Amino acid sequence: MENFQEKKLFTPGPLGVSSDVKKAMQRDLGSRDTEFIVIVKEVREEILKIAEASAEIYTTILLQGSGTYAVESVFQTLQPAGNGKVLIISNGSYGNRMKKICEIAKIPAVTLQFSEESEIQLSVVERELRCNPSYPLVAMVHCETSSGIINPIEKVGALVKSMLPGATFFVDAMSSFGAIPIDFEAGCVDFLVTSANKCLQGVPGFGVVIAKKSVLMQCQGRSRSLSLDLVDQLEGLEGNGQFRFTPPTHALLALRKALWELAAEGGVCGRRERYRKNSVIIQEGMRALGFKTLLPHQKLSIIITSFLYPKHPNFKFEEFYQMLSNQGQLIYPGKVTKSDSFRIGSIGDLFPRDMEHLLKCIEKTLLKMKIPIPVE
Ligand SMILES: *Cc1c(COP(=O)(O)O)cnc(C)c1O
Repeated sequence: MENFQEKKLFTPGPLGVSSDVKKAMQRDLGSRDTEFIVIVKEVREEILKIAEASAEIYTTILLQGSGTYAVESVFQTLQPAGNGKVLIISNGSYGNRMKKICEIAKIPAVTLQFSEESEIQLSVVERELRCNPSYPLVAMVHCETSSGIINPIEKVGALVKSMLPGATFFVDAMSSFGAIPIDFEAGCVDFLVTSANKCLQGVPGFGVVIAKKSVLMQCQGRSRSLSLDLVDQLEGLEGNGQFRFTPPTHALLALRKALWELAAEGGVCGRRERYRKNSVIIQEGMRALGFKTLLPHQKLSIIITSFLYPKHPNFKFEEFYQMLSNQGQLIYPGKVTKSDSFRIGSIGDLFPRDMEHLLKCIEKTLLKMKIPIPVE
C-alpha cells in the first residue's frame, strides 16, 4: 500500500470529495455498454433538475476536460458568424481567461473591465450596451473565484435581454452552480458552464454545459475545433447516447453518486447552508486572529475568501503554506494582482469541524513563526 497523508483541500479546486464518491469509481464501465449510456442520461437529466431549468428549453452537455475546456467550447461553438463581437464583462482572472480564450481563438471580443475588488456594475454595462447595441454574445463569471466576489448575473442577464433581445447570455458559474441558486429564466441565462469537481463535488474530469437548445442549434458548423464543438458533442449524446471520444467513465460514476449526495443534503439550498456555515466560521475565526479580508464584510462570499498577508516581517506565505500542508491543511495562494493575499475555500467535502480545525492549525503555525496574535 502506498503511503500518503490525507489532506483537506481548502482550495478553489480540485476539491475534496466524500469517500463514497471515491468508492463509486472503483468499477470499470464500457463506453458503449447500456449501463453506461443510462448513467450518462441520468446525470444529464439530474443536472437540469438541479438547475431547475426546463428540459423543453435546455439540455445538458458533458465535455471531457477541466472547466476551462468547457468555457472554451462555448466560445468556439457560439462564436459570432458575421462580424459581431463578443462582450466579456470581467472583474478578475476568470473573466480575463475568457478574454484570453477569445484572443487565442481569434474570436473578436471587447472586454468591459472592472476592478477585482468590486462587483460588476449594471449602470456601466447599460452604458456599454447603449453605445454598442450589436453584441451577439455577452459573457461573464458568476463567482469570480480569484477574489470570491459574486456578480449579479441575473440582473445583468435581464438587462442584456431587455437591451439586446437577440444576444446570447453566457455565464461561467463554475464555482457556484450547485451551491448558489441561479434563476435561469429571470436571469435570461442561455448558456451556463460548471465542472464536475466544484460545488457538485464529483471528481475532476469533465465540464458541464447547460445550453438553450434553440440557440445551440443555430450554431452548427461554427466551431473551429472538433473536440470542443458542443453541437457535435450533443449530437453524440442525443444520438447513440455516447460521448464522441473516450468518456471519463469513472468520473461519471463519481458524479452520479455525488448528485445523490447533493439531493440527500437538501439540494442547492442544503449545500449552500453548509458552505455558509463553513465560510462564517473561517471568516470570523480569521478576523479573531487579526486577519483582514480583501473584500469588505458585506461582499464576502460563501465559496472562497481572500485574506491579506499580515504585515509582520516573519510572515512568509510559502513557509506558512508549507507548515499548514505538513499538518494536512491545504490553503491556496491569492490570485488578485493588486494585493498580496491568500485564499481559503469553504466548498467541497468540508464541514464546520474542518474549518475549526484549520483555524487551530493556523493559530499554531503563527505561534511557530513567532508572529504575535492578533496579527498586524
Ligand atoms: C475553477 C474555475 C474555472 C475552471 O478552471 P479549471 O482549472 O479549468 O477547471 C473557470 N472559472 C471559474 C470561475 C472557476 O472557479
